[in-house]
Amino acid sequence: MNSKEGARERFKGIQKEILSLSHRIHANPELGFEEEKASHWLAEILSDAGMDVKLGICDLPTAFLARAGTGPLHVAICAEYDSLPEIGHACGHNMIAAMAAGAGIAAAKAADEAGLTVSVIGTPAEEVGNAGGKILLLERGAFAGVHASMMVHPAPFEMLEMNIIAAAMFDVHYTGKEAHAAAFPEMGINAADALTVAQTAIGLIRQHLRQSDRVHGIVTHGGDAPNVVPAHTSAKYIVRGANLKDLEDVRAKVYRCFEAGATATGAKLEIGGGDKPYAEMRFDGEMNAIYKRNAIDAGRAFPELSPMVARVAASTDMGNVSQAIPSIHPAIGINSLPAANHQPEFTAHCVTEDADRAVREGALAMAWTAIEMAESASVRDRLIQNAAR
Ligand SMILES: [Zn+2]
Ligand SMILES: [Zn+2]
Repeated sequence: MNSKEGARERFKGIQKEILSLSHRIHANPELGFEEEKASHWLAEILSDAGMDVKLGICDLPTAFLARAGTGPLHVAICAEYDSLPEIGHACGHNMIAAMAAGAGIAAAKAADEAGLTVSVIGTPAEEVGNAGGKILLLERGAFAGVHASMMVHPAPFEMLEMNIIAAAMFDVHYTGKEAHAAAFPEMGINAADALTVAQTAIGLIRQHLRQSDRVHGIVTHGGDAPNVVPAHTSAKYIVRGANLKDLEDVRAKVYRCFEAGATATGAKLEIGGGDKPYAEMRFDGEMNAIYKRNAIDAGRAFPELSPMVARVAASTDMGNVSQAIPSIHPAIGINSLPAANHQPEFTAHCVTEDADRAVREGALAMAWTAIEMAESASVRDRLIQNAAR
């Protein structure tokens, strides 16, 4: 039996548990940095499978590291498991976690034979938009010694290279002055008006943004009572650009819009966060080609993509990992259209038969990719030498 067949046999043995893990995480959605159940369940399944597991690494209680093998090429598979407020696992991170665990366990079986060290890194809080788990783990050394990393993300359809752009999320606070809204309005400074001016300015500035830029946000506090002039308002905004440089251009323009709100009303502006943005993804072409071939062998198909895909743009802290270490982030299709990521209808799709099939095939495709990377002398040597530089 060759090492890929060994991995397939191993995966068959744990497939039922992996699918049940995907469904259990889905039924118990937890927000970023609060993924206690998911991280425990993942640590448990990986440790039961014989991997060496540490939960709560790098001062992050819901991050973990599981490792197996002692081969020269060290490949990390990233697991995400946070959900979204109110709409649960609408980004299918339950599937990402299950695929990562399945791939890690399957690859572990063949690791020494293939010349591989395999890590499953549990990376919390991808959806938080600033200082995501992978950024903190990178800073704190969790990826030290890793030569290449990968993860697979659910989407409506298969995409080898989805458009992953840079993003920064920040909080905006205006402070004005309360006043009776009818009796003494001239005594007030209206912090809600400041937000309205800023949002109007952002609407106008869209004409002058690049096609690849994005600006979007929500008001998180709009006032307390209609008969009191609002003295405290706040919002959360995300700005995005094709890369970190474009992002800073957009950020400067949007910050000026928020300053306009303060200037017009006299309210005081404070902007916080946005200090650890998500970087654009740099795909490793050779790893992508190996993944595509193995994904097809595992049962996937990569259809010609519709024009709709050209507009798709998302951001992830996996972009930051890819800037430091050769990485891939393929999207795996769960046949959910017209439902797509971040819709409650997509949540429902992340535990269907199509989703379960994607978990099985995505896990196997990643395990085989890691094995093939270790067994190919040219790929292995390039990645090891790249890390030594
Ligand atoms: Zn998402
Ligand atoms: Zn996601």
